[in-house]
Amino acid sequence: MIPFENTWPYEIIGKDVYVSACPFCEGENVLLPLRVSHIQPIRDGKKRLLVFPCCRSSVTIVDADADYLLANRKLRQLS
Ligand SMILES: [Zn+2]
Repeated sequence: MIPFENTWPYEIIGKDVYVSACPFCEGENVLLPLRVSHIQPIRDGKKRLLVFPCCRSSVTIVDADADYLLANRKLRQLS
């Protein structure tokens, strides 16, 4: 069972990976330091450190599916 609060949607444009909004700052359309080729190894279980270029926040990505990245900590504040 994947905790929803640890997930964040991503988009692929060309070979680049974007998020439409940074979970940590007000950044919009943030280009992540990830390539499309990095996604499959993550889906296969390889952990990857992700540093958001907008605010230098870092999380470890532990899984992904076609739409969401799964981090090792909470990305959403659930009320
Ligand atoms: Zn940010």
